Amino acid sequence: MVYNTEGIVLRTRNMGEADKVVTFYTKDHGKVTATARGVRRPRNRLLGPTQVFTHGRYMLFKGRQLDTLSQGEIIYSHQKLREDLDDMAAAMYLTEVMDLFLEEGEPNPDLFQLLVTVLDLGTDKRFDFALRVFELRLMALLGYEPQLQECIGCGLELGEPAFFSPEGGVVCNGCRTQFTKARSITKGTREWMQRFLQWDLERVAILHPSRSVLDEIQTIMAAYIAFRLDRPLKSLGFLQSLRTDSDPSDGQPRI
Ligand SMILES: [Zn+2]
Repeated sequence: MVYNTEGIVLRTRNMGEADKVVTFYTKDHGKVTATARGVRRPRNRLLGPTQVFTHGRYMLFKGRQLDTLSQGEIIYSHQKLREDLDDMAAAMYLTEVMDLFLEEGEPNPDLFQLLVTVLDLGTDKRFDFALRVFELRLMALLGYEPQLQECIGCGLELGEPAFFSPEGGVVCNGCRTQFTKARSITKGTREWMQRFLQWDLERVAILHPSRSVLDEIQTIMAAYIAFRLDRPLKSLGFLQSLRTDSDPSDGQPRI
């Protein structure tokens, strides 16, 4: 069976002399792994469309185990993401999280749109913001939306001071001792997180929260995602090492 779909290349690995195994996240079929035969030969027409982070249109043959890529056409290559180490690390983190959370199949057009939007924002040097939107909305789309309004301990409307636990969301001062991993969260950050989750994606994409808000969301969501995965992320370690090595005042983009 042949099928056509839009997709994003999440990762690739070489196989044999000239082939590649390509993992896509597709709009209509969810996560798909396919072999691209002969693609590493010079001037192969599928070489461009199978570069990691590429957004394209693909024609595939359904196989018993792996599908086979037959044709590909680039919609947006996201070339800039492969040229800058910081952007590459950020995009790798994004694709690794997608790959770890998703099984083969399971189409989710909203998630596909989220991935496209975040990679597009990344090519505009906005990964520091876009990854936070991605983390929150991905969790929601997978059914792990953090609770931000009522305390996860007692269920009452949250006051101040407030805390956030990776175990599910916000925690009130009274319940704090029951959640040893809870850390404080400011009211402003909590409101930004609610906007990231509730507003239309096009409206969210034009927001510009402050650096301190983004840093706070990053810390909170890294713990939240690690709790759900129950293992550390390879690319997150790499991202953090880049971050430690660079001086934030030198104007370099941070992730
Ligand atoms: Zn409580």
